[in-house]
Amino acid sequence: MDENLKARLKGLIGSDARVIEGEFERELYSRDIGEVPFTKRLFHTTPELVILPKSVEALQKIVQFANEEKVALFPRGSVSSGLGGAVPTVKGIVLDLSFMNKIVELNEEKETLKVQTGVRWSEIESFLQSENLSLRAYPSSFFSTVGGWIATGGYGIGSYRFGHLKYQIESIEVLFPSGTVGSVNSGEEKFARFFGTEGQFGIVLTATLKLRKKPEKSLPHMIYSESAEDAFNFIKDLIKEDLKIYHIRYLDASHLEEANAVLGDGLLGAKDAVLVESEEVAEETRFLDFAEGRGSLADDYLSNYLWHERLFPMKRRGGKPTPLASELVIPIENTVPYLNAAKRIAERRGVEIQVESHIVGKEKALLMLTHMADVRDSKAYLIHITLVPVLTRLGLKFGGVPYGVGIWNTPFIKDKCEKKRFEIYKTYKSEVDPRNILNPHKFFAVRTKWANIRGITFKPLVFRLLIQLATLATPIFGKLTRPKEEFKEESLLEKTAYSCIKCGSCATVCPAYLVTNEELVTPKNKLYLAKKLLDGEEISKSDSDKVFLCTHCGMCREVCQNDLDLVAAWTELEKMLADRFGKPKEAIKDFVSAIESSDDYWRFVYANLSFKNLPKKPLARTF
Ligand SMILES: Cc1cc2nc3c(=O)[nH]c(=O)nc-3n(C[C@H](O)[C@H](O)[C@H](O)COP(=O)(O)OP(=O)(O)OC[C@H]3O[C@@H](n4cnc5c(N)ncnc54)[C@H](O)[C@@H]3O)c2cc1C
Ligand code: SF4
Ligand code: SF4
Repeated sequence: MDENLKARLKGLIGSDARVIEGEFERELYSRDIGEVPFTKRLFHTTPELVILPKSVEALQKIVQFANEEKVALFPRGSVSSGLGGAVPTVKGIVLDLSFMNKIVELNEEKETLKVQTGVRWSEIESFLQSENLSLRAYPSSFFSTVGGWIATGGYGIGSYRFGHLKYQIESIEVLFPSGTVGSVNSGEEKFARFFGTEGQFGIVLTATLKLRKKPEKSLPHMIYSESAEDAFNFIKDLIKEDLKIYHIRYLDASHLEEANAVLGDGLLGAKDAVLVESEEVAEETRFLDFAEGRGSLADDYLSNYLWHERLFPMKRRGGKPTPLASELVIPIENTVPYLNAAKRIAERRGVEIQVESHIVGKEKALLMLTHMADVRDSKAYLIHITLVPVLTRLGLKFGGVPYGVGIWNTPFIKDKCEKKRFEIYKTYKSEVDPRNILNPHKFFAVRTKWANIRGITFKPLVFRLLIQLATLATPIFGKLTRPKEEFKEESLLEKTAYSCIKCGSCATVCPAYLVTNEELVTPKNKLYLAKKLLDGEEISKSDSDKVFLCTHCGMCREVCQNDLDLVAAWTELEKMLADRFGKPKEAIKDFVSAIESSDDYWRFVYANLSFKNLPKKPLARTF
């Protein structure tokens, strides 16, 4: 975009949108939670502009303008996805939908709620608390947005009882690339096209969610099994009982070992386990009768602890800071043979995988295979990262379907959508977005910035061949990774910066972000700046100044998905920056007075007082 074009666009939207042009701030919008080292070499990941529209009209003007001028648009929610869906591939504009977060209308009689899609699931549930209503299902990333979950996965907590997200939405409103807005109802054939397609056909503006009465109780129970096979046999038999269970989650032994590391005690048995949530006493009794003699029952407080941890699935205490995950939806029947085969491959590479699964209906399981790596150890990391598509591809042989698509799963697109559906999608894309401005060069096929020479590697056939080669080379890779390279003594800041998984959970509770709306003040982005500083890269005084806009309230610490000691990290980071640039005393003074006079801040404080007082971990007991 040349400067004239930018000026014209800014004139068009006026004060109805916030425009971000600073170099470092735009760079913050070039990433998601995935850590793929060569992304910047393949794509133009840093947007030319970032725009936060404050109204539908402003968003409409931007989309119309982009369509006329053929400027690429990349919508984004909370960027908690990791397959590149929200990452720019070409020069263009990132549309940060954070301000499109209104709760529009509650219909108590019909038990529905209309929301703008920039709203986060946690905010909706918090709103519903006083209405005696509740969401039907929600993602473990409770802090992610409605629009983001529509465009990506749609399976999460409660999917056993309520199924996929598309069955929990009555209608959506979509802003199409032409600039027109249309309503699409769940009864229409095209409704399903907007789910899991990464914003390819339009920006989803609102969703009318189906709700349910707030459950009276939460009655989680965890049953230990002797093996994955026992655990899945237990699950299959439980499904046949047809109880009114809300959620079923499988955790393997190494996952529980990690949970023990977080708890700091050997409280949980290091065994495979099934966690089952009932919401009515009668159903709980039926479940306990069923479970009798089929495995050992964990103490209630441990089951409660793990149920609470459903919203913190990434807490890790392992020595390596970078989680890599392969996700598939697979027939329950095939989970165990698949897991056995996957573990054999991982073992040959000297990698330990942790497995977690949400049962998402009577026949399917969403499986997540995670392994820990270290992005700083670049050679070993590349070897680790190739394991992800290897495990995904292996899953296909067991009837599995890759979960998300984004950029990195495009080579599997034809395994995810059968031919007919893929053709319908393609035709629809050319109908509604003939200029290919929405999230281009992903989902359908990847095109990189190198005259597509490197993009050829993403062609399904070529990609499969590469994966095949990677699989054949597994034993060699295994030997290469074994001698673990130790890192030099690290400061707390360094450790924290490299252990941040960029999930963004912390941004939702950060009062500094709430009041300033500055991406750079969010904990994850302060840690990104810290990384740059530690790597000796240039940072500016104005970016440094923003780091000091922090109350040291510790809310980020409370919700951190990786249990990081963030407040101590802020102290260290601020000291480093103060030594280099000085403390921005005036900016801090203005920030404090902005906070003091912010109604939003005080509403937030009162809403979170009870949350802050929650005990961090259950009382220690011997198991
Ligand atoms: C700790 C953790 C737990 C997770 N648990 C789950 C889980 O239980 N289930 C699950 O499915 N996923 C899960 N995820 C993955 C991720 O959180 C989900 O995909 C999430 O719902 C994405 O929402 P987001 O707001 O972060 O979207 P983003 O990551 O910002 O965007 C994702 C995609 O949606 C598009 N998009 C965003 N908003 C719109 C819109 N309004 N209209 C059109 N397109 C749009 C973007 O362009 C992009 O392609 C988890 C991630 C983390 C870090
Ligand atoms: S300590 Fe600072 S960064 Fe953390 S939540 Fe509070 S204001 Fe935000
Ligand atoms: S600081 Fe913690 S909560 Fe925030 S992005 Fe990093 S890992 Fe997630």
